[in-house]
Amino acid sequence: MEENHRKVIILGTGPAGYTAAIYAARANLKPMIITGPQKGGQLTTTTEIENFPGFSKGIDGNQLMNEMEQQALRFETEIVFGEVTEVDVSNRPFKVTAGNKTYTSDALIIATGASARYIGMESETRFKNRGVSACATCDGFFYKGQKVAVIGGGDSALEEAGYLTNFCEKVYLVHRRDEFRGSKAMQDRVLKNEKIEVVWDSVPEEVIGDDEKGMTDLAVKNVKTGEVKRLGTKGMFVAIGHEPNTGVFKGILDMDDKQYLVTKNGSTRTSAEGVFACGDVADSKYRQAVTAAGTGCMAAIDAERWLAEQ
Ligand code: NDP
Repeated sequence: MEENHRKVIILGTGPAGYTAAIYAARANLKPMIITGPQKGGQLTTTTEIENFPGFSKGIDGNQLMNEMEQQALRFETEIVFGEVTEVDVSNRPFKVTAGNKTYTSDALIIATGASARYIGMESETRFKNRGVSACATCDGFFYKGQKVAVIGGGDSALEEAGYLTNFCEKVYLVHRRDEFRGSKAMQDRVLKNEKIEVVWDSVPEEVIGDDEKGMTDLAVKNVKTGEVKRLGTKGMFVAIGHEPNTGVFKGILDMDDKQYLVTKNGSTRTSAEGVFACGDVADSKYRQAVTAAGTGCMAAIDAERWLAEQ
């Protein structure tokens, strides 16, 4: 049991998790960080990051996350590959299960981030990464000169539709209502863009394709008339928001109505003493790499002080 005990365990390897690790390691807490299913988190699915301070020429998402990992390793962070499937914070030490191993810790920092939402159709799952994507900046380039569809009516969908017109011949913006949720400025830009056609009051009905070619067409349904039509697109970019990765904390930690972890005013403290949350998993508002890194730093400091008090 003893060899599986750590002072601090950090869950997640996005900017929040790595920053928490760097601070905790430099405070001599010898943290262990469990990667989660996608090491490096959401930034590894973007290309150029232009708004992370300190990189005046921009930096590739993977490169930024590799740098953060190296920085955490330099101060002797232990990295464990795996996905956490069970957490028990009802007693101390806390218990965290990843793969077939259970670890214990005195403090726990949760930085599990958020993931893109999908519609939930079977055909969507079938053609994921073979026509269906949730990241225009990652995959848009593959649809050069082709027709694609973007699903959603918020700022993400409006932004992605505009971005895709840099490569694609035509972009259908499929929205389930007859007005956008996104900002007026973004709406104006989209409505003026001749390459974008808005398909109002409509939702995807089926992604059509075969195993060999991947997605070959998209059927959408008008929710008012029931009419189904095909758009002739080989790509579908889903931009309907994000969900926090909080499944394993259900019933264990307090969450808001959107399932984000709730932290106490001006701190990273959660509803369980000794458990801290940082980054997108506790932030539905800013969701930026730099704010995630900032709260990661806060979580490590909060954990360090809390441990000192014990
Ligand atoms: P939002 O929650 O703002 O928008 C989600 C959109 O997807 C809505 O239009 C919603 O429809 C639609 N939707 C949700 N579920 C479904 C479904 N099952 N089927 C079909 N459509 C669905 O998420 P965003 O990711 O767009 O934005 C999140 C936050 O990030 C916002 O605060 C936004 O302002 C911000 N952001 C800002 C940007 C910028 O300023 N440059 C860029 C990107 C995001 P409905 O409207 O009917 O609910």
